Amino acid sequence: MVSRVIPVDTFDLVIFGGTGDLARRKILPGLFRRYCAGQMPPEAQIIGAARSEMTDDEYRAFVREAVDEFGSTPHEPGQFDAFLGRVGYQRVDAKGSDGWEDLGARLRDDAVRAFYFSVGPALFGDLAERLRTFGLATQDTRIVVEKPFGHDLQSARALNRELAEHFNEGQIYRIDHYLGKETVQNLMAVRFGNMLFEPLWNAQHVDHIQITVAETVGVGGRGGYYDKSGAMRDMIQNHLMQLLCLIAMEPPARFEPDSVRDEKLKVIRALDPVEPHHVVRGQYAADENQPGYRAHVEDPRSTTESFVALKAHISNWRWAGTPFYLRTGKMLRARTSEIAVVFKDAPHSIFGAEAGRHRNMLAIRLQPNEGMTLDVTIKEPGPGGMRLVDVPLDMSFADALGPDGADMPDAYERLIMDVIRGNQTLFMRGDEVEAAWAWTDPIIESWARRGDVPKPYDPGGSGPDDALMLMHRDGRRWRDIKA
Ligand code: NAD
Repeated sequence: MVSRVIPVDTFDLVIFGGTGDLARRKILPGLFRRYCAGQMPPEAQIIGAARSEMTDDEYRAFVREAVDEFGSTPHEPGQFDAFLGRVGYQRVDAKGSDGWEDLGARLRDDAVRAFYFSVGPALFGDLAERLRTFGLATQDTRIVVEKPFGHDLQSARALNRELAEHFNEGQIYRIDHYLGKETVQNLMAVRFGNMLFEPLWNAQHVDHIQITVAETVGVGGRGGYYDKSGAMRDMIQNHLMQLLCLIAMEPPARFEPDSVRDEKLKVIRALDPVEPHHVVRGQYAADENQPGYRAHVEDPRSTTESFVALKAHISNWRWAGTPFYLRTGKMLRARTSEIAVVFKDAPHSIFGAEAGRHRNMLAIRLQPNEGMTLDVTIKEPGPGGMRLVDVPLDMSFADALGPDGADMPDAYERLIMDVIRGNQTLFMRGDEVEAAWAWTDPIIESWARRGDVPKPYDPGGSGPDDALMLMHRDGRRWRDIKA
């Protein structure tokens, strides 16, 4: 199957923080891959902007190194140089006036204008203000802001207000890179493109839904940032909430930005407050091979969680009574992201009690090996009565779609192209982000109030035992964490 590449309009993309880690690892290699795929028009211009002094040529060398290290792609001779010919650099001070007029002089009136704020959120307001003051923002200019979008509801509101002083909501693209993943969009295709699932997609037929995002790595060098954040703020409030929204939302009337985002917002607003005993926090301990969480952060008695499991309820007609179990953590057995929709038992077994209990389960794997598995109950082969067994109907998207299925643009590539196209469907709206904080804040506050200490867990496992108990108490079990 050949994927279609539709070139976007020509653009000027300024990357504030163009010398930073995110630019190096994701944004710049992603742009090169879109260039080679023919999606980035040859006249497009990319300008790195940051505090350091650098010439255009020095920045091009930086970009070449970043692309080589973090994700080149097969290309024609000369294509790399042609791409670098579209790259430039401008020193700017986000907090001062240096460089802004020179940056403005590089921009063209007839190109789509986008500014990527790949800097800490403390600079968002300064950048937005200077773009206006120095006349760099046109009516159609887009700004892209990175996570974390605030630390709590209050700070997210303050950020939204700061940006709203200079840009309208239609110009603000808040990135949650999970939404750019091919399989995450496939959630919508599977749900709303098929007749098969949607009639069963409700509390009447679904016993529960579990969402797992597991990492094998620890906090490593990010300890300073992570310790002020923790799994709840870093993962649940954004990535897992977005997955929950897509799996639980009502069908939007159209696949259009506000239709989709309105439905997602309704899900978040219908979430019940979480009972304290429905949340488990964990922190990975040391083992013989590596130090534990606390060795990577400044505070040797840190109580920040590197793992969260919780049970959520959505109070609406579709989902009342069906629990959603969310789980994420670092230093777990395997790197995997998966959503499992576990259906209820058949109302009556004609095969008798000895046939055992069997349930259909649809698992959607977001990574690795993106695909879907549907557990179906069949007869166990052989003579001697009717014994039942659950077997997986397993589909890997890469196998089903051929080589192009395996070579899809990465989340950042897709999202940047969507910014240029002016399509906000896969970006979070301000009210969505605020609603997500309004739900997570009380959980975090209750930990602080109670002086809650996360449960230690062994690296390489599936988190603290209490997380297993969260399900066992309800007569359910988590799916194994495996790659
Ligand atoms: P970084 O510290 O590596 O880079 C920061 C960049 O900002 C540098 O280019 C620096 O020169 C520039 N900068 C800092 N102060 C400036 C000023 N006053 N004026 C102009 N430029 C200034 O940070 P990063 O890891 O690239 O992260 C950037 C943003 O992306 C952050 O908000 C981060 O939370 C978010 N993010 C990063 C990652 C990642 O993998 N690195 C992932 C998700 C989100």
